[in-house]
Amino acid sequence: MPRHTADTSNVTGLAQPGGRILRPRTTAQVQRIVRLANRRGWTINPVSTGLNFGYGSASPVRPTCIQLDLSRMTAIRNAAEISRGNPVAVIEPGVTQQGLYAWLQQHHPDLAFNATGSARETSIIGNALDRGVGYFGPRKEDLFGLEVVMGTGELVRTGFRRLGEASPLAHSHPYGLGPILDGLFFQGNCGIVTSACFRLVPKRPQAVAVSLGLRDGKDLAAFIDRLAELKRDAVMDSVTHIGNRQRSHASLMYGITTYLEKECGRTPEAAAAEAREALALIAKGDWTSLGAVTGTAAQVRANLAEVRKRMGDIATVRVLSEEKLALGYRVMHALRFFRVARTNAAAIAAIRPLHVLALGQPTDAAIDNLLWRYGRSDLPATQLDKTNCGLIFINPALPMNGALVARIVRELEEVARPFELYMTINIETATSLVAVINLLFDRSNADEAAAARATADALHAYLRSRQLEVYRARADMMESVVDPVDPYWQAVGAIKQALDPNGVIAPGRYSP
Ligand SMILES: Cc1cc2nc3c(=O)[nH]c(=O)nc-3n(C[C@H](O)[C@H](O)[C@H](O)COP(=O)(O)OP(=O)(O)OC[C@H]3O[C@@H](n4cnc5c(N)ncnc54)[C@H](O)[C@@H]3O)c2cc1C
Repeated sequence: MPRHTADTSNVTGLAQPGGRILRPRTTAQVQRIVRLANRRGWTINPVSTGLNFGYGSASPVRPTCIQLDLSRMTAIRNAAEISRGNPVAVIEPGVTQQGLYAWLQQHHPDLAFNATGSARETSIIGNALDRGVGYFGPRKEDLFGLEVVMGTGELVRTGFRRLGEASPLAHSHPYGLGPILDGLFFQGNCGIVTSACFRLVPKRPQAVAVSLGLRDGKDLAAFIDRLAELKRDAVMDSVTHIGNRQRSHASLMYGITTYLEKECGRTPEAAAAEAREALALIAKGDWTSLGAVTGTAAQVRANLAEVRKRMGDIATVRVLSEEKLALGYRVMHALRFFRVARTNAAAIAAIRPLHVLALGQPTDAAIDNLLWRYGRSDLPATQLDKTNCGLIFINPALPMNGALVARIVRELEEVARPFELYMTINIETATSLVAVINLLFDRSNADEAAAARATADALHAYLRSRQLEVYRARADMMESVVDPVDPYWQAVGAIKQALDPNGVIAPGRYSP
């Protein structure tokens, strides 16, 4: 047995023991561990990088014997075959956003991928398996052809990867023949994914980020409906993120304040006052959206004109390109001795690392904001769980219906009081939205932490009273989302029993 025990404490404040850590480097080693677990009666909690902040990070749902850390499996297995005409990377669980980004920059700068707003060192496979959402779309859509170690230790390849890695279909056809088994391994516990095909995105000739500031919060329903129509009409085909005031301000405050203190020598008090002016420049209204427009120069021009035409009466439209931001920063920074130029430069400094997300470049900016807020700017983004930051996600799936969503948002805010909700409403597919909502609290304050947890429970109960449900659950929520008498969850339990008869893998995770 290995020596080190996993530290599973995390920002939600709730953790279960993860057991002894094992860090395999190969699929064959994972198979051996699973077979041994079957013989010895061990349970295994697999994580890729274990940075599932706000959902339980590396914590299992129930105490487990082995924490299977797959972060040392870092190969891009088909590196030599990747090209613009073959934009698929066969990656292992330890391939991170930053790892793939840096590799592509070096070898295929004309290829990008669907980046999330979480830390650069998060796993692409880990995030996708938890059904994470990036700026280009739900990550689930990007992953296929899974190589999976089942609960028995047997190896199964889904889709046409089962024909062998040399088959021309193995890394290109996402569905295969017959029932699509892939779904069992997303938000499931039937197997351990040791590699998968991941879709890359050939870059378009032009790409700009577009930020819209809703002038009057009362128009939220129309704002959502019109943005949805822009997606349906492929004017903006990214996942437009619509952030409320708390979320936008929280995301920008660190960059603004750091600029004012470090580049302009402002005291923290002076910086705080000027930061409010900078925020008013870029996130003035109740809701601010961020999305992307891509295509040929003519397509981008035409689509931006369309965005202005359809949104201009209710929102300010801001087009953000790296060239424009770099130029604006140079000019304003040079004039920073004037207050108005200084606040403009601060606003640009804060927005720059964030707008690239919409174009597929990972950044630590969102996590750095939290580290700063909780007084630990000295730590890297991977160490967020080591701070006093308390963060709980409660993320409802929602229909594409602006009026309904606006009403639910108001009611959620009521239920949460006195907590403020940090929220983005993400236009995920042509017919559905997800709201990503978090509560923030000081984890070192036991009363505040308990109040935050009670509020999260109340929010979940409210959603259910509206016949809604979260689209992704925290490790500590599994008991409440999995209903053992519901025929759906009973069917999930029967499949689990067939594929993992001894219940070795992640007991309780999205299954009875
Ligand atoms: C400020 C902030 C911003 C964030 N932004 C985003 C965002 O934009 N989009 C988003 O989706 N999330 C976001 N997150 C949440 C989270 O940090 C990310 O989803 C992150 O990518 C998940 O961690 P990971 O990649 O290390 O996955 P892991 O923690 O490694 O995996 C998640 C879970 O999937 C399962 N799993 C992982 N690997 C395997 C495997 N190989 N086989 C079987 N099961 C496996 C395990 O149950 C594991 O617990 C954000 C969080 C914060 C605090």
